[in-house]
This record gives sequence, structure tokens and C-alpha cells, in this order.
Amino acid sequence: MQFLRGNRAFLALLIPFMAIPWITIGDFHLFLFNFSHNRLEYFGCASEMSTYSMILLVILSGVALALISALSLSRFYCGTLCPNTFFAHLLTLFGKKKKSLLSKIGGFILITALASMLAFSVVAYGMSTDELIYAITYLTFAGWLVIILSSLMIAEVYMIQGWYCAYLCPYGAITSILPIEDRLSYVFSDPNHRCTDCEGCVRICPIPDLDIRAGFDIRCIQCGLCEAACTKIFIKTPHPSLIHRTSGSVFQAGGKGKGILAAIVLIIVFGSIGIMTLTHSERLESCRLENKMLHIQSSAVQRP
Ligand code: SF4
Ligand code: SF4
Repeated sequence: MQFLRGNRAFLALLIPFMAIPWITIGDFHLFLFNFSHNRLEYFGCASEMSTYSMILLVILSGVALALISALSLSRFYCGTLCPNTFFAHLLTLFGKKKKSLLSKIGGFILITALASMLAFSVVAYGMSTDELIYAITYLTFAGWLVIILSSLMIAEVYMIQGWYCAYLCPYGAITSILPIEDRLSYVFSDPNHRCTDCEGCVRICPIPDLDIRAGFDIRCIQCGLCEAACTKIFIKTPHPSLIHRTSGSVFQAGGKGKGILAAIVLIIVFGSIGIMTLTHSERLESCRLENKMLHIQSSAVQRP
């Protein structure tokens, strides 16, 4: 239950994220960068564009989303929405040293399945799900992409998880350099000197050499594992943990509204670029209803 509560935001977004590539409206998808047919599909319509324009649009959308999230949600994203943190929580359930072999194998199978589904969904935003299933079956480029992506995810979870978060993650790098006040930091507070020095909070932390008792550290991914570890030590006392989150509100994550303001500016800038790209591309003559007419005509021609 604690696991579900701690990851409810991630799970709530995971389902629509995985469902969107499967949804079609008429002849087109709800949303798809259809690289196989060089067109962007949205709400049952489509715009034709060159592969380079589509790559540009994907990169711009990614950068814009990362910046908007970093400026408004800050490290809230890392702790509650990032798949890496979700997998870190899963590992504490199944994969830690004291767990049985069966539990570790079960955890590995679960993480592999989830990472594969996630990798499939990411690639499925670039081609239709039917084509992607075909690509995986016959191991074409997109099929290999899913396999490589999921393998990297699994390897990262088991081998370099905290190191990746601290030193490699591009999102972490953005939040580190932006001048924002990170209000969602977990803090250690021990006015009555109750800390037993058990180091439970340090051992469970996925970030290498991070001791939350030493004060705020920008590498902290807000996963809350240290709080849970400390709670176990003081479970029978009225104040169960010496570590807690300083703010529960997502709207304060970026600090004093600067983040929201910057996010609005960025939405306008990147929205304009996106619209310019779309208006320079040829919108497909056919939307859903027109395509239906085409189908009727072509099937009439084919009939003997
Ligand atoms: S200090 Fe606590 S919240 Fe921060 S990364 Fe380590 S375990 Fe997670
Ligand atoms: S888990 Fe709690 S009691 Fe143990 S070292 Fe960390 S802060 Fe101190």
C-alpha cells in the first residue's frame, strides 16, 4: 500500500502514456509522430512533413517539456514521475540483499516486463503499434530499438541507478543549473538528538555517498526512501521520522512563481515554433471523413 501511495502520480500517468499510441480516431491516431509515413498525426488529422522536420519537432518538444517541468515542478518530477525512481522503489520491495532468491527473481521479471512495456510505448510514439509489433517480430530497426532501450533501462536500474541520476541524467543537469529554489527537498531535522546513527537512510539512498543528515544536496532525487528507512527505526514513537519533506505542494516546487512564469514564456516560444513548423508542412488533404470517402471510392474500383 505504501508503495502504491508513494508512486500514485507515476502510475496515474503511466496508464494514459501507454494507452495513447493505441488510440485511433478514424484513419489517424490520437497523437503520433508517424515516421514510417512522414506525418504528424493529432486528434484524427495529420500533417505531412519531412523526416528532418519531425526530428526537429521531437527534439524541440522534448527540450520544451524538460524545461517547463524543471522550472515548474523542479525535483518533484524526479521523486514522483520519473520511471527511474519508480524502479528504485520496486527494487527496495524485491531486490535488496536480505530478500529471498525467489523474491529477487520475481522482482527482476517484473522490472523487465515494465521496462519492456515502457520502451515499447516510447518507440510507439514514432510509428503505429501494428508496425512496431511487426518490427519486433521480424527484428527490424524499430524492433531492435525497443530491445536496446529496455535492456539499457534494466541495466541502468541494476547497475548504475543512483550514479545515473546524480551525474548523467539530462533532466537532473537542467535542474542543477537553473536558478530555482527547490522547495520539495527532503530534510533531516533532529533537535532532540534522537538519531541512532544506524545509517539506514544513507544505505538505502540510491545516490552514491549522499548523507541527507549533512544538509541539502542538489543530487537528491526526492525519492523519499530515506524517510521510509528512518520511519522504520522510530515506528513506535510519536514522531516517527527524523527526515521529512519540507513542502507537499507541487505548485511551490519551482519556487515563488518564477518557475510558472518562465514556463508560460517557454510554452509561448516553443508553441510558436511548433505552429510555424506545422504551418510550413503540408496538412494532409484528408482528415477522417474525407478518408472514408476515399476508402469507399477505392473499394468500389477494386470490386469486379
Ligand atoms: S536523500 Fe533521501 S530522498 Fe534524497 S535521494 Fe537519497 S534517499 Fe532519496
Ligand atoms: S535512518 Fe534515521 S536514525 Fe538512522 S541514521 Fe538516518 S536519520 Fe539517523
